[in-house]
Amino acid sequence: MVVKNDPTLMFTNAGMNQFKDIFLGNIPRPYPRAADTQKCLRVSGKHNDLEEVGHDTYHHTMFEMLGNWSFGDYFKKEAIGWAWELLTGVYGLDKSRMYATVFEGSPEDGVPFDQEAYDIWLQYLPADHIIRGNKHDNFWEMGDVGPCGPCSEIHYDLRDESEIAAVPGREMVNQGSPLVIEIWNLVFMQFNRKANGSLEPLAANCIDTGMGFERLCMILQGKKSNYDTDVFQPTIQRIAAMSGKTYGADEKCDVAMRVVADHLRAISFSIADGQLPSNVKAGYVIRRILRRAVRYGYTYLGFNEPFICRLVAGLVDQMGGQFPELKAQQTLIEKVIEEEESSFLRTLATGINLLDGVMAEVRKSGGERISGKDAFLLYDTYGFPIDLTELIAREQGIEVDLEAFEKELQAQKERSRNAAAVDTDDWKELIHIKQSEFIGYDTLSAEVKIA
Ligand code: ATP
Ligand code: MG
Ligand code: MG
Ligand code: MG
Repeated sequence: MVVKNDPTLMFTNAGMNQFKDIFLGNIPRPYPRAADTQKCLRVSGKHNDLEEVGHDTYHHTMFEMLGNWSFGDYFKKEAIGWAWELLTGVYGLDKSRMYATVFEGSPEDGVPFDQEAYDIWLQYLPADHIIRGNKHDNFWEMGDVGPCGPCSEIHYDLRDESEIAAVPGREMVNQGSPLVIEIWNLVFMQFNRKANGSLEPLAANCIDTGMGFERLCMILQGKKSNYDTDVFQPTIQRIAAMSGKTYGADEKCDVAMRVVADHLRAISFSIADGQLPSNVKAGYVIRRILRRAVRYGYTYLGFNEPFICRLVAGLVDQMGGQFPELKAQQTLIEKVIEEEESSFLRTLATGINLLDGVMAEVRKSGGERISGKDAFLLYDTYGFPIDLTELIAREQGIEVDLEAFEKELQAQKERSRNAAAVDTDDWKELIHIKQSEFIGYDTLSAEVKIA
């Protein structure tokens, strides 16, 4: 899941990442076909679902993407036919609840309507279950350049009969409904996007498919939320027992339990894959995810002692068989998480109190915005992360003046630079390291006080 040595990508965010070089023809294909499950993390860059996670029931930070692959071997007819066979024949999904989307075409790219995929789908689905989709939903690109092509997605309607009667499923596809959701994306890689923006046909047509394992589980287990499946319930029940709260009794607590259950996986698997929390790049992404979980647990579930580390053993029991790397590093994972939690919990307690005061002032004066100065004070003096200030404020309908915050930050950096060289007699004292009384988690400037 952790990508090393690729400046464009910190974490695997789609099943195809590790096959990139085969599609590009940079390395010879080792086999014509493959089928796999790939751990993905969508928390940064082009795919970032972090803010949704916990609030909705079907986006995770870490999830397993199931895929089948053709490297210049089979193409649309087989990919669609086999997807249909697996979903309806093997898994027994209800055909009347299934919808397929096909690419409507894009004149500016010279790509026509995907008649071929449409005609194949007509063998399985009635015409009113086949929907034309635009470039945003139905044309898949790896990046600005590289292999790409139209895609065809399978969506499933989980609503009750009465709701379906009121609004037909076809009107709900790709509308952000938690109950009419995309489960599988079949990508038909036909083109190579060149640097000048034009498309050229690939030497060999390829297939890249991705199906969300947790969403599939939800459907197969007859649930309406990924979190109600046996992928997440064991952890959620543990969180419920530890907090003395019941899942399903209160929406805010439920969101918090979902956040914690989700983030536990992302953090544990990242550490197992070699990415420790830190202050930079991929490490900071992991730290942010962990803090988001701590914050929800602290605010809504009453945890003021490290608690996520206590959930690791259960996760290892559950997933360690399939993912031995998790089992092998259980102790390290627990230790790292515990340390992160305890230091962040200290920061949190102070910061949240101060932020509450700031927001009360904003409201009293009839405003809707926390000033850059206040946000910076929280950040600089109390070590309270700016993204957390933003998150908490947003939940209360308050904005943060980020532009002004940036200016404060720049000004502070200037001050530090200027202060870094101070003349004392004939000695030049560069920086003076003091014992810090700061209780924050990691702010660099707090450990190294500029003289
Ligand atoms: P959505 O529109 O629901 O955000 P997507 O179009 O971004 O999904 P794709 O990039 O096509 O998703 O990925 C292929 C499949 O992976 C999706 O059909 C879905 O089943 C699953 N998937 C995508 N994002 C997530 C996520 N954040 N959590 C769980 N499963 C996901
Ligand atoms: Mg998405
Ligand atoms: Mg989609
Ligand atoms: Mg998709």
